[in-house]
Amino acid sequence: MNTATKLIHSIPVDPLTGSISVPIYQTSTFVQDAPGEHKGYDYARSNNPTRAVLENIIAELEGGKGGYAFASGLAAIDAVIKLLESGHEILAVDDIYGGAFRLFTHIYAKFGIKVNYVDTTDAVNVLDAITPKTKLVWLETPTNPTLKISDIEAIAKIAHQNGALLCVDNTFASPALQQPICLGADIVVHSATKYLGGHSDLIAGLVVTNTKDLGDKIKFIQNASGAILSPHDSWLVIRGVETLHLRVKEHSKNAQIVAEFLQTHPAVDKVYYPGLATHQNHDIAQKQQSGFGGVVSFTLKEDTEESAKNVVCSTQLFKLAESLGGVKSLLCHPATMTHKSIPAEKRQAAGVADSLIRLSVGLEDVEDLVDDIGLALNKVGVQATAESFCR
Ligand SMILES: *Cc1c(COP(=O)(O)O)cnc(C)c1O
Repeated sequence: MNTATKLIHSIPVDPLTGSISVPIYQTSTFVQDAPGEHKGYDYARSNNPTRAVLENIIAELEGGKGGYAFASGLAAIDAVIKLLESGHEILAVDDIYGGAFRLFTHIYAKFGIKVNYVDTTDAVNVLDAITPKTKLVWLETPTNPTLKISDIEAIAKIAHQNGALLCVDNTFASPALQQPICLGADIVVHSATKYLGGHSDLIAGLVVTNTKDLGDKIKFIQNASGAILSPHDSWLVIRGVETLHLRVKEHSKNAQIVAEFLQTHPAVDKVYYPGLATHQNHDIAQKQQSGFGGVVSFTLKEDTEESAKNVVCSTQLFKLAESLGGVKSLLCHPATMTHKSIPAEKRQAAGVADSLIRLSVGLEDVEDLVDDIGLALNKVGVQATAESFCR
């Protein structure tokens, strides 16, 4: 069976009623026949039938042995870090999601878990930085917002040779484009808020493990810490996943066209998109992804906050908002929005220039999207304050 067919039919028909849509089991508890005698469900933090369907689907999509649904992407990341003990170290991609950085720095540091950040776009840097204390290697690929690509297969080998697990945050690619477990990763995490949900209408997180043993540990943490996904939000993610392949294919197609257009615009300096031949690790992306995703970032020749603000406040279709992966196109200015809390010097060193703009290319007709961003870019350099453009 091909992927889309397998995906759509991995969502079961309700055996009790024949309902083609997965029922939402909005319940806290389950009546038992005798003490300890039940139908596999005793309390809805531990297990919920709607959540269980989603957990099975994501395990299948990622080629893993166990899937676990959490209240947010950060709750999913938090559960993975709880596999570690005080004194253990994490080796993480330097261009890591800001929320993960905050969690590592302000929560886990005080419990004695240290994180070392390296540029993982060259696997040799991982080999150089890994130590016997490293128990977990943490990758994002592509990264946010500069779409850096790391070689999952090569880094999985390095992690395993040094007794560490590899976890990949697969939010940007989604399992429709990249399956890290099939490339050697032990754990995959998702912010299902993005492409898996796909409609900008929920917050959710997922963990997938490559073995049942590791899965049982995550399951224990999920129940013990309790940051589970609700039945209704589980249902929404299931509904999103039904069209994942279709959507992500179209997001990628649109994003490629927008990226190529941006390269030709005189106001644009750098364009970051793994689908461009000019991308630093385009060959690795081509090897491990079946498409390049819907996020494109770019900088302006006039590298100022002011010109970036002119652009992000001038589009009509691209709405100014954080987040990504939804049907509607969004854009944001990382320096003053998602990456505001990072000191300017550190931010710029990571490639997040003052004028960097991140696009989440949606599912509108791509001609309209190109017109929209083109018109906004034509305003760069025009004498006006950012405020005069802002709605
Ligand atoms: C959004 C995001 C997260 C955090 O997910 P939430 O659902 O917002 O908690 C983690 N990793 C990446 C790459 C993200 O884009």
